[in-house]
Amino acid sequence: MTNKYIYFVANWKMYGNLSSLNTLDKVIKFSKSKEIKGGRLIYCPPYTLISSFSKKFKSCQIAIGGQNCHESEDYGAHTGYINSRMLKNIGAHFVIIGHSENRKKGESDKLINLKIKSALEAKLKVIFCIGETLSEKRNKKTHSVLSNQIKIGLKNIKNKSNIFLAYEPVWAIGSGLIPKSQDLFKIVEFIKSKFRDKTPKVLYGGSVNPNNITNIRKINNIDGYLIGGASQNAKKFIDIVKKTYS
Ligand code: PEP
Repeated sequence: MTNKYIYFVANWKMYGNLSSLNTLDKVIKFSKSKEIKGGRLIYCPPYTLISSFSKKFKSCQIAIGGQNCHESEDYGAHTGYINSRMLKNIGAHFVIIGHSENRKKGESDKLINLKIKSALEAKLKVIFCIGETLSEKRNKKTHSVLSNQIKIGLKNIKNKSNIFLAYEPVWAIGSGLIPKSQDLFKIVEFIKSKFRDKTPKVLYGGSVNPNNITNIRKINNIDGYLIGGASQNAKKFIDIVKKTYS
């Protein structure tokens, strides 16, 4: 049983359309009930649904986030992209930056650093994803990979109070695999040790579901979860929150 505030971030990736809005009714009802306890819910739908989600969540405390943004704060000729000011303007409070699915497509730590700066400038909170691949883990490079991602990703950012880190081992995303509890605890401690003054919130992401949350929630230095697949099902998402606090 935990009393602290825990963040539950739903990353819908490239899923969902207008008919998905109906599935939110259950979550809205749950968010207004006593069962929510210290849970803080954040939905990151595809861009096409942010405005509709924002309207839907008007009467409740559920926050909205984007799944990425362009690095430029200025409007400009960037076909197919949106920037952090646009996200803020349609009702987003958060943005996920550095997700491994985007790193895989070529997003570098340097680019991620620019995106984080522009998001903070737009007064968005940032969910900054870091994590090692399976071969990096096998080669015992987890610490050096994470250090590097943090060092370059947060370069020249003094005020980190609006940054949440999301530790997402690439090999755990969508695979059904999760790190051993003692490894996860140590890695979260390692990430927190990188910050001298104010320790940021550290979320865990990678195959979290209603079956494994009962074990994961025992790792008491984790401040919340970034949830992909399971978050697209309202019942599963609610169950994860309930089981975290049971
Ligand atoms: C994610 O994409 O951030 C994620 C954690 O996905 P899943 O929960 O499906 O592993």
